Amino acid sequence: MSDTTFGHIIEGQEVPSVDGATFDVWNPWTQEVFAQAAEGGPQDAARAVASSRRAFDEGPWPRMGRVERAAAIHRLADLMEERTEDLARLDTTNMAKPIAQARHDVGRSVWNFRFFADHQRDHCGAVYPMDSGHHTYSEYGPAGVVAAISPWNFPLMMASWKIAPAIAWGNTCIIKPSEDTPASVTMLGRLALEAGLPPGVLNVLNGHGAPAGSSLTADDRVDRVTFTGSSATGRVVMASAATHLAPVSLELGGKGANIVFDDADLDNAVHWTVEAIFRNSGQICLAGSRLYVASGIYDEFMDRFVAAAEALTIGDPFDPQTRFSSLASKKHFDKVSSYVDGVGLDGGKVLTGGVDEEGRWLVRPTIVTDLPLTAPAYCEEIFGPVCVVNRFESEDEVVGLANDTRYGLNAMLFTENLSRAHRVSSRLRAGTVWVNCFFIRDLRTPFGGVGDSGVGREGGDFSREFFTEPKAVVMQIRR
Ligand code: NAD
Repeated sequence: MSDTTFGHIIEGQEVPSVDGATFDVWNPWTQEVFAQAAEGGPQDAARAVASSRRAFDEGPWPRMGRVERAAAIHRLADLMEERTEDLARLDTTNMAKPIAQARHDVGRSVWNFRFFADHQRDHCGAVYPMDSGHHTYSEYGPAGVVAAISPWNFPLMMASWKIAPAIAWGNTCIIKPSEDTPASVTMLGRLALEAGLPPGVLNVLNGHGAPAGSSLTADDRVDRVTFTGSSATGRVVMASAATHLAPVSLELGGKGANIVFDDADLDNAVHWTVEAIFRNSGQICLAGSRLYVASGIYDEFMDRFVAAAEALTIGDPFDPQTRFSSLASKKHFDKVSSYVDGVGLDGGKVLTGGVDEEGRWLVRPTIVTDLPLTAPAYCEEIFGPVCVVNRFESEDEVVGLANDTRYGLNAMLFTENLSRAHRVSSRLRAGTVWVNCFFIRDLRTPFGGVGDSGVGREGGDFSREFFTEPKAVVMQIRR
């Protein structure tokens, strides 16, 4: 076990790939390879599925009492809490996530485990008294083997968001982290063994989307597929799972609208607007990447927004003062840079920011105006620190603009008018609407997107519906 070698975790052991293949793991801030990870192929995927299948069909986990299972998951959460600094440092090294944000992500990941451990214990089913002289009740049994596939932008948090409900409900799980960020998830797999989770309950398969991820989704021994990543990959994953009719949960891309009305509290709106687009160096599915500002406050708001963006401390992600750092990989830097380069060609204006000129994989907090509504930077998910701004005159106009997208993950609005807040929230086509805030989440609520932003919802009872097989039991009562 080391921080420079990340194997697969299969059947209670950390193992190399069957053929010994590995891939480079990068530190994007220093632009150096800092570790090697096992490159999973079809044989490794098959071993991982066989192990999780056995753990489900024959092992103690699905048959364990709910209180005992909750206790085991809390033991894992305790270990994660104890090792917060190690987990945070791995995400910071592996994707240049500012260390303060990485620590925050560990806290949210711990909470995912604690929440779902308790939720499965307390939400077991319901009784339906019947007038016909029968007694009927529902129960929620585990679905089986879960394949979970996660992205690189919140490596630990996104993985834990899938693993926690899956195993809490008595399933066994194979997690395939992004090939860009295998470090913290492999450590999570090690901690699960340390916490005493039986072999096969949580396997970690490292490797690329194809063949590692695609071998999992196509395996007919897998009962559920939960995926977070791009809309393009989501389509491939759904088609693959359909070959064996495994239900899918897809959390996909976004192009969130952020609406600032002329009666907004401007200090609050500027604070959250900056967070919404520049947190995690802009690599956030929930980013407020399309900003609409009411004409009456446009000049004042934009002066403040540009000043706040320029005041962000940019630099070494390990410096506790750093709020913003480089992008997670060279590949991603190239993608975001190409959108920024396209802004001028499409007639847009870069008010502040742009591509770093010191050779770092960094795009500064970038604010763009005057783009036509057909420009790629306006319509497509950039997944980087680029905010495209438009002004609006009326509520109807801005609702139309906000909803004119293939995506529908989230939206934000800032207003002090309560009726307007309710009215506009209900008209916005999005899975989550934040009013006068951003990124706040109660794990009992539904999370997911409409359109190209996803299929299904997770969170609280919504996760229970996905990760279990509900059953009705009907019993005759003899009179
Ligand atoms: P991606 O689609 O490239 O990869 C996501 C995961 O899928 C990775 O683990 C990858 O290895 C795997 N994968 C790739 N091809 C596969 C295949 N054929 N079969 C199975 N697995 C495959 O996405 P990414 O670049 O890692 O992440 C960025 C995207 O994720 C953005 O679009 C972002 O909006 C989205 N995202 C969404 C949410 C959400 O909650 N909706 C959260 C975070 C990120």
